[in-house]
Amino acid sequence: MIIGSHVQMKAPDYVLGSVREALSYEANALMLYTGAPQNTRRTPIEQMKINEAQELMKQSGINPEHLIIHAPYIINPANSVKPEVAELAREFLAKEIERTSAIGAKYLVLHPGSFTTTDLQTGIGTIIATLNTIEEYDDVVICLETMAGKGSEVGFRFEHLAEIIAGMNHPENYGVCLDTCHISDAGYDVNDFNGVLDEFDQVIGLDRLHVIHLNDSKNERGARKDRHANLGQGTIGFETLYAIAMNERVQSIPKILETPYINKKPPYKEEIAMLKSGVYDPSILESL
Ligand code: FE
Ligand code: FE
Ligand code: ZN
Repeated sequence: MIIGSHVQMKAPDYVLGSVREALSYEANALMLYTGAPQNTRRTPIEQMKINEAQELMKQSGINPEHLIIHAPYIINPANSVKPEVAELAREFLAKEIERTSAIGAKYLVLHPGSFTTTDLQTGIGTIIATLNTIEEYDDVVICLETMAGKGSEVGFRFEHLAEIIAGMNHPENYGVCLDTCHISDAGYDVNDFNGVLDEFDQVIGLDRLHVIHLNDSKNERGARKDRHANLGQGTIGFETLYAIAMNERVQSIPKILETPYINKKPPYKEEIAMLKSGVYDPSILESL
């Protein structure tokens, strides 16, 4: 099982600290934001302790492809109402691709964005136009994330992501990150995960799937809310999430937990242990 969680990336150890944090959870994968997810201020690459982080990953047997980068969720490449917003997204993404490459990571997760006061088709067109202005590069794959469909979010149907990828000048640079909380909130039945994968394969192609965000959801299927729950504490449930983690068709794909902290403490070591053992014990989470 390739399993990890969202980890922090902060001074003084930056990416090295992120890898240490992942190892403390007994994870073999990790995902980080290159700075605060809600802003675009970033530490220079030279200060991020990348060489030390890569060395530690090598020693610990973490495949560099299993270190995932997540772009900040405040950038909105779908905004055509304020062109400067899409322009900021474009400029930031170009630099984020450079950072991802410098870190030695391959997959950069990106929320497609929100169409705000226009409509879905305009939003999709704006995303395509924004992403197509990014200069050619070759060692990073942008993974568009499946969204819950909260507000005016684009990407709550696999068809939206397929349409974006089909509109790309360099479709080979694009893939998908599937978030279990988001697709359940969007209306997909994650209890029938093989059915979901069949549909994904038909609409997008399973070869585009590179990252899974493994989260329970606080809301019922179809609620379009996007509130993550700890494993077994939401409407999806541990058995279903465990079955997804164990599904052979996605065996080689890193699963990343983005479940909430409990009493200000990360629950990832405990949740990873439960997924490895297949045994759900709510008292372990309650004792955090
Ligand atoms: Fe995300
Ligand atoms: Fe996610
Ligand atoms: Zn979410």
